[in-house]
Amino acid sequence: MRFCNLLFTVLIAFAVITSSLTGLLAVDRSSSTPMTHWVAVHGGLVTGAYQNRAVAVATPLFATCSGKTLTIQVLNMDSPAAFSWPDGHVFVSRGLEDQLTNPELAASIAHEMGHLLNDGKISTVAALQGTDAGLMVEVNADATGMKVLKSNHISPEAMVSMLEKVGDCDSLSAHTHEALDQRIAILKKGM
Ligand SMILES: [Zn+2]
Repeated sequence: MRFCNLLFTVLIAFAVITSSLTGLLAVDRSSSTPMTHWVAVHGGLVTGAYQNRAVAVATPLFATCSGKTLTIQVLNMDSPAAFSWPDGHVFVSRGLEDQLTNPELAASIAHEMGHLLNDGKISTVAALQGTDAGLMVEVNADATGMKVLKSNHISPEAMVSMLEKVGDCDSLSAHTHEALDQRIAILKKGM
């Protein structure tokens, strides 16, 4: 009898634990995609004036890119940064908006569009400051971004001054500083 009670208790406990775990897993599966997790890790999203400015600057640029639906959102990060996902999601940071003029913000978005337009060369999230993909991937994204700027009648100087401002950020590694300097030198040579 005592054994039956014990067995019953163990079975009830097992059922409760199993249903709790199933519930937790179900919640995880419905609310967490790789991008929502990535956004959360990068400070979450900012709305209001920051988002409105990003949309106002990005919309004319995106209009020149047919065949791919692009969207822009603002990450709540202090450091100046921009990212693009291969599916067409572009992100700029709040810190980037704080440092840049509108033409420079357009240049940072155009660089990210460069990654997306040079499709097939990136398979992971591409970042404004450069990724492990290497210098030439960034140089090519800068070059394509320059074309996007030109077709929107935005001065190519904005790409240079944007990279210079990003390069002034103290939190960057020496390697990233060096890569930014090389990109700026290549852009100036082509002007
Ligand atoms: Zn890049």
